[in-house]
Amino acid sequence: MNRKNIEQLANRILQAEKFSKPPIIAEQLAEFYFDLEIEWTSLQNDNVAAALSVSEKRIYVNELVTNVGLKNFTIAHEIGHWVLHKDLIGQHSPQMEREADKFATYLLMPEKIVREEFSKFNEHRFLKYFPTDMKVSSLADTFCVSYTAMKIRLSQWELKLIYVDFNSGKCYRSKKEFLEKEAGQIKLF
Ligand SMILES: [Zn+2]
Repeated sequence: MNRKNIEQLANRILQAEKFSKPPIIAEQLAEFYFDLEIEWTSLQNDNVAAALSVSEKRIYVNELVTNVGLKNFTIAHEIGHWVLHKDLIGQHSPQMEREADKFATYLLMPEKIVREEFSKFNEHRFLKYFPTDMKVSSLADTFCVSYTAMKIRLSQWELKLIYVDFNSGKCYRSKKEFLEKEAGQIKLF
């Protein structure tokens, strides 16, 4: 399924549940909208954050996942598998993983709501001058997602609210600001 369709699907779910303000809590959607149970467990493979059992209609979440943002995204990712791939039991592909990640991104950080929240910084005479990293961090808390997930969301081509230098991982207000700061740096040899 292409990006646009996945985004529309996520938006329809948010509209049906009348979500218009952050945070969007995936656990709530799983249980009340999709009728999926959440169970905390020690998954055999520590590297697996969660797993979906289609036949049991249950999402198993690794109890080692204690970060609230990561937990929210992980559950949204599994909801993505339920919505997009439940008829493909047993199959697993990198493309399916990417689709589930996209679904989670659009579900937890819908463009319209992220833009509304981001614009609040500019309306505020002090917050406007917040360093970009602090804005990303503040929005990550507001949307209950990880800093990295929010940073990527804000830098996506359809939502260029910040510029991320993926070599250093630093965020800038714009590509112009990045180039200026880089150019202004004194290099020591
Ligand atoms: Zn997955």
